[in-house]
Amino acid sequence: MNILVLKESNFSQEQRIAITPENTKRLGLLGNQIFIQAGLGLHLHFTDEEFVKAGAKIISDPQKILPTVDILLSVQKPAIETLSLLKQEALVISFLDPYLEKTVVNKLLEHNLSSISLELMPRTTLAQKMDALSSQANLAGYVAVITAASLSPKIFPMMTTPAGTLSPASVFVIGAGVAGLQAIATARRLGAKVEAFDTRPVVEEQVKSLGAKFLKIDLGATDATKEGYAKALSQEQLEKQRIAMEKACSNADVIITTAQTFGKKAPLLLTQKNLQSLRAGTILIDLAIDSGGNIEGAKPNEIVELFGTKILGLSNPASRVALHASQMYSSNLFYLLQHFWNKEEKKFHLNTSDEILKICLLTHKKEIINGSVKKFFAS
Ligand code: NAD
Repeated sequence: MNILVLKESNFSQEQRIAITPENTKRLGLLGNQIFIQAGLGLHLHFTDEEFVKAGAKIISDPQKILPTVDILLSVQKPAIETLSLLKQEALVISFLDPYLEKTVVNKLLEHNLSSISLELMPRTTLAQKMDALSSQANLAGYVAVITAASLSPKIFPMMTTPAGTLSPASVFVIGAGVAGLQAIATARRLGAKVEAFDTRPVVEEQVKSLGAKFLKIDLGATDATKEGYAKALSQEQLEKQRIAMEKACSNADVIITTAQTFGKKAPLLLTQKNLQSLRAGTILIDLAIDSGGNIEGAKPNEIVELFGTKILGLSNPASRVALHASQMYSSNLFYLLQHFWNKEEKKFHLNTSDEILKICLLTHKKEIINGSVKKFFAS
């Protein structure tokens, strides 16, 4: 099959690339021809020559090749003009943000393109290798802590020196999913004292196993969805949570928020009133900024100073460690293609009744396949 990878359409905000030379080689061995836009990986020190050595053909005029492409791989949604030039029934694999990107979804339908939206990948053991949401969230948790440490006027570990003893920094992590657990682990590795909270009680054990304290708050029913995602809390529950977190927040040198509810706006966890009661010098990192933010007043990739605190909404955090993020992302794509590879026909087998594909397949034959997105578009 002809597989194409283009430079990301919003390069200024997206430094990740959808394929590395290593995965170019692996996809080639399955029987594909990979086409790479010239200069795709230069900013990550992957030269065109390396891609050629791995079996890729370098193209400088993507418009010419688009009508012959079977699979288009991307990190963020491809440009609408790119989708228009693909042949009908080509497959697009990318983060497609289907709940927010109506124009993209409509284009995919109208142009009869099949598409896999990586946000929709089921969070199951079988799909783990293809789970780009997890691989990128893991890096986001790491980036949040490293960024907070670089902004903090305090060091993270305890230090005993002849000049005196410095106590460890206190880090409070709100939301202990993939990113939150990695933030806890990274902060612990740096020697900080860590406390965490999540509405899903099942994570208490995971938090404790990383050497952190779990803050218990009784919010009444806080069940997860059948996919394992947190359910949105009521306004009363959220207010109760804010009050119950006050002490942990005011004891913290660093607060990292990661709370999200899938397909919905992120919950507002810290209002300006809460911020007023924090210690001056507290660093706050909002990892949910791209879905609306957990902290009132947070702005994407801008440090906002409020009541003596510094608040940073980290937009697209994985792009800040783009080399490793691309390595993991392109491996997720490779495993996805390999899992559904038909060896005899040397092609991707788009089996719509497969338990993974029927969930992450966004569009196919002019229809929305994922049940929740279909319902969302019908409403
Ligand atoms: P996410 O990004 O959707 O949300 C981040 C965290 O915020 C979640 O832990 C959620 O419970 C929490 N949260 C939501 N509202 C909150 C609130 N008001 N206060 C505090 N915390 C709040 O989550 P994710 O990291 O994408 O993980 C989603 C689910 O998928 C989890 O159950 C996770 O364990 C599961 N998962 C499973 C696998 C697997 O089995 N292979 C892989 C990855 C993730």
